[in-house]
Amino acid sequence: MEGALSDGSGHPILLTASEIARRVTALGQEISKDYSGKEVVFVVTLKGAFVFASDLLRHIESTLDAKVDFVQASSYGNDLVSSGSVRVLGGDTSMIRGRHVLVVEDIIDTGRTIATLIERLHGLDARSVEVVTLLVKDREVPDRPAARYVGFHIPDVFVIGYGLDAAQKYRHLPEVHVLTDK
Ligand code: 5GP
Ligand code: MG
Repeated sequence: MEGALSDGSGHPILLTASEIARRVTALGQEISKDYSGKEVVFVVTLKGAFVFASDLLRHIESTLDAKVDFVQASSYGNDLVSSGSVRVLGGDTSMIRGRHVLVVEDIIDTGRTIATLIERLHGLDARSVEVVTLLVKDREVPDRPAARYVGFHIPDVFVIGYGLDAAQKYRHLPEVHVLTDK
């Protein structure tokens, strides 16, 4: 992390576009190596992971037998605080059965969203279920599922940009910023 630069959004930058690009390239290479010779379905969680997924997928080796699917996972309740129950919409269930699944997530906070998705995908008889997440928040959460691939561990702050929103805004920012109230 290169420190508190800012830009036109007024929210300080936590991760620059070039830091993210370097890490995403490395994740793509690692995943390509690990899944070499296997059939893998990338399950992208909308909306937040759409930017990360589109960059990551372009760093997956062209020789890999990869498919892409999308689900929408959302928790009920307040925008800035995760609530208890998670709703999962969409997803082509026939694509999952018997296949290695790699969930592409934007951020793991309490872990409830990812736990629900992992359970759902096992329920659809995936051959294996692993997670790649751009961000994990550093905080003590008992039994939080571990992602096999993590872009960055970040402090327990609310972040926006690079796909992540606050009330649907800021998804287009190329960097990850800390949301500050202005
Ligand atoms: P969890 O279920 O792990 O508590 O939360 C995961 C979901 O909550 C993420 O996929 C994301 O949609 C949302 N979320 C958690 N922390 C943040 C954050 O700092 N910024 C944004 N924009 N969304 C977050
Ligand atoms: Mg998400």
